Amino acid sequence: MNRRDFALLGAAAALPGLAEDTAIRKKLKIVVVGAHPDDPECGCGGVIARYTDAGHSVSVVYFTRGEAGIHGKSHAEAGAIRTAETERACKILGARAVFAGQIDGATELNKARYAEFDTLLASEAPDVVFAHWPLDTHADHCAASLAAYRAWQAMRRKPTLYFFEVMTNSGRQTQQFTPSIFMDITAVAARKREAIYAHASQNPDSYYPAHEQLARSRGMEIRCQYAEAFAPAWQDARFL
Ligand SMILES: [Zn+2]
Repeated sequence: MNRRDFALLGAAAALPGLAEDTAIRKKLKIVVVGAHPDDPECGCGGVIARYTDAGHSVSVVYFTRGEAGIHGKSHAEAGAIRTAETERACKILGARAVFAGQIDGATELNKARYAEFDTLLASEAPDVVFAHWPLDTHADHCAASLAAYRAWQAMRRKPTLYFFEVMTNSGRQTQQFTPSIFMDITAVAARKREAIYAHASQNPDSYYPAHEQLARSRGMEIRCQYAEAFAPAWQDARFL
C-alpha cells in the first residue's frame, strides 16, 4: 500500500500544509468559500486557524454579506452589520475576508455569475480550496458550492479541493456527506468559537452548540476532543 492508498483510508490523511512534515516547507494560499458570514467559520474555522498558525495565507470568500439575515433591518443595514462582524471573525482567525457580491437568499447561478466567480477564484491563485458540500438544505450553500466547483474545474493549475459541512440549531444542513479526512482542531477550538461568536447578530448561542457537538462527534472518529471533517474532490490527488 503506497502513501496515497493509505491516505484514502481517511484517518491517516492530513490536509496539505498541515502534516507535521510539510507544515513549514512551503507557504500555501488557502481559499475558503462560504455562502453567508459564519458558514466558513462553522464549517472549517478550526482548520483556518490551524493554517494561519502554521504560517499559511487564508482568504475567506463570502458569497453574500448575509443581507437577509437580520429581522427588521434593511438589506443595506444588515449587510453593513454583518460585514463588520465578518471582518472581526476573520481577524480572530488570521484570515482575510473577500466578498463575492451575491445577495443572501437570492443567489444566482448563470453564465455571467459563473464567469464572475471563475475570475474571482482564479485571482486568489489558491493552492487549496474549501467549499460547502453541494447537497445542502440551503439554496445559497448549494449555489456557493457549485460556483466554487465550476471555478475549480476551469482552473488550469487546479488547487486541491475539499468540501466542508455545516449545521443549524435544528439540524444538519449539509446532506449525504461522506467525509474521509478528519482534522484535529482541539488546540484552536476556542478561537473557532470566538470567531463564530463574532457574528453576534446571528444569536450564536442558538447554533454554536450544534457545531460543538458535531466537532465532538467528528473528534471521536479520530480519538481527539474536537475535529472537523472534509470530503476531498477526487480529480486531483497530488496531495493525497
Ligand atoms: Zn449559510
